[in-house]
Amino acid sequence: MNAELTYEAVIGLEVHVQLLTESKIFCGCSTRFGEDPNSQTCPVCLGMPGVLPVLNKKAVEFAIRTALAVHGTVAPHCRFARKNYFYPDLPKDYQISQYELPLAVGGFVEMSDHGTARRVRIRRIHLEEDAGKLLHAGAMDQADYSLVDFNRCGVPLIEMVTEPDLRTPEEAAEFLKQFRAILQYLGVSQGNMEEGNLRCDANVSVRPSGSADFGVKTEVKNMNSFRNVQRALEYEIQRQMTLLRAGRPVIQETRLWDADEEVTLPMRGKEEAHDYRYFPEPDLVPVEVSPAWIEEIAASLPELPAERRRRFVQAYGLPEYDAAVLTGSKALANYFEECAQLHRDAKLVSNWIMSELLGYLNREGKDISENPVTPAQLAALLNLIRGGVISGKIAKGVFEEMIQTRKSPETIVEEKGLVQISDRDELSQIVDQVIEQNPGPVSDFKGGKEKALTALVGAVMRVTKGKANPQLINDLLREKLAGR
Ligand code: ADP
Ligand code: ZN
Ligand code: MG
Repeated sequence: MNAELTYEAVIGLEVHVQLLTESKIFCGCSTRFGEDPNSQTCPVCLGMPGVLPVLNKKAVEFAIRTALAVHGTVAPHCRFARKNYFYPDLPKDYQISQYELPLAVGGFVEMSDHGTARRVRIRRIHLEEDAGKLLHAGAMDQADYSLVDFNRCGVPLIEMVTEPDLRTPEEAAEFLKQFRAILQYLGVSQGNMEEGNLRCDANVSVRPSGSADFGVKTEVKNMNSFRNVQRALEYEIQRQMTLLRAGRPVIQETRLWDADEEVTLPMRGKEEAHDYRYFPEPDLVPVEVSPAWIEEIAASLPELPAERRRRFVQAYGLPEYDAAVLTGSKALANYFEECAQLHRDAKLVSNWIMSELLGYLNREGKDISENPVTPAQLAALLNLIRGGVISGKIAKGVFEEMIQTRKSPETIVEEKGLVQISDRDELSQIVDQVIEQNPGPVSDFKGGKEKALTALVGAVMRVTKGKANPQLINDLLREKLAGR
C-alpha cells in the first residue's frame, strides 16, 4: 500500500546551550566543570526549603546577545515559570524555565548552501536552569545504584526552538554547526556537543512529497555529536516512511538514539505542556529589558559568521564554498586571515588550509586549537611554491615534515635538498633520456593522444624524485616531440 509514494522529511530542533557565565543562574555557585562532585552547590541550587533565587544578569545578557545575533526580537517584558516534574537530578522537583513569555521570539539563522543563502527561522529563545547529572554505577543494564552530582544544577541554559524549516538530516547537522559557530563567535558558550554544553533534541515527521500538511512527529533525544544527530534522523525518517508505506500510523512519542546499535528506541509517550503544570515563578520578579540595554548589547556584537563569510568572498576573492568552510569556526577564520596577511595569494592559502591542514586535523581527530603549523610557517611554505623554489607536490611532503618536526619549511627544504630543478640544460638531458626510454607513449602522443604526455611527465618526475619544475618539463617535452 502506498508503495510508490515518495516522502519528504520535516525537521525542527530544540537546542540547549550552557552559557559561559562564572556563576550559576540563580545562586553564586561556580559553574566550573570537572570539580569534585557536589562541591559547587549551596542551599539554592540544592533546592532546600525556604531559599530564594536571584537572577544572574550576565546570563540574561548572554541570552540577549544570542537572540540579537540571530535577528530575534527581545521581549521588553518576560518572566520565569515553574516546570514541574520529578526526577532525581532535579532536587526542587521543578525547573525554573520560561513558558508563555520567553526572553526572545523570532529570528533566523542564515545557512550557506554552497552559494544560495537560506534562512531557517527561529521560534523562540528562553532562559532556564540546568539539572544535575546522574551517574549510573556498574554496567548500564545491571546498575545496583546511581549517584547524583548537583554541580551542574542551576548552570544557565538557553533553549532555542526552530520552526519546522529543515528538510534533511544533513541540513539539520549543518544548521547546528552554524548555530554553534555563532555561539562561539559571541563567546557565550563553548558549544561542544561531546561535552554536553550544546545539546539537541530533534523533532521529525515525514509527509508525501508535495503535501502542504505536516505528518505526525516524533522527538529524538540523546545525540551527542553532529554526526549522531544526522544518523539518528536518517534512521528515524526511514522508520517512519516504512510505517507509512505499510499503511501503519506513526505514533507521537519521545525516542532515544542508541549510538551503538544505530537505532532509535521508544522512551516515553509524548508529554504535553499541561503535564508540567506550568505556572509563573512566584519567587522571581518579571524581567524588564530596557531598549537602552538592548541597544548597548547590539552595539557590542562582534562580526558574525555570515558577515565574515561575505567579507571573505569580497575582500579575498574566495569562492563562497571556501568562505563557508573557513568561517565555520572563529579560530580557523582567524588562522586564515593571519596567513593571508603574510601570503598574498589568498586562494592558495585557502586551498592549503582546506585540503592539507584540515585533512591532517580530521585524520588525527584534532581541533584547530591543536594546529602545529603557525601562520608564519604556512605562509613561508606557500612563498616557496609561489617563488618556484619547490613544486606544490614537494610542498605537501614538506608540510608533513613541518607537522612532525616543527621545523621551518626553509630548513626542511635546505636539509633535504628539495630545491626544484629549474635549470633548462639539466632538465633537457633528463627529458631526452626519458623520450629515448619510452617509445610507446612517445608514438601515442605523436599520434594525437594528448594524454600520453602525462606518462612522460611522470617519468621525468620519477627520475628527478619529484623535484623537476612541472611547467618546464611540459614545455621541453612539447618542444622536443614537435621537433622530431
Ligand atoms: P510540541 O507542542 O509537540 O512540543 P511544538 O510545536 O512546540 O511541538 O514544536 C516543537 C518542535 O518541533 C519545534 O522545533 C517545531 O519546529 C518542531 N515541529 C513541530 N511540528 C513538527 C512536525 N510536524 N514535524 C517536524 N517537526 C515539527
Ligand atoms: Zn548554588
Ligand atoms: Mg513544545
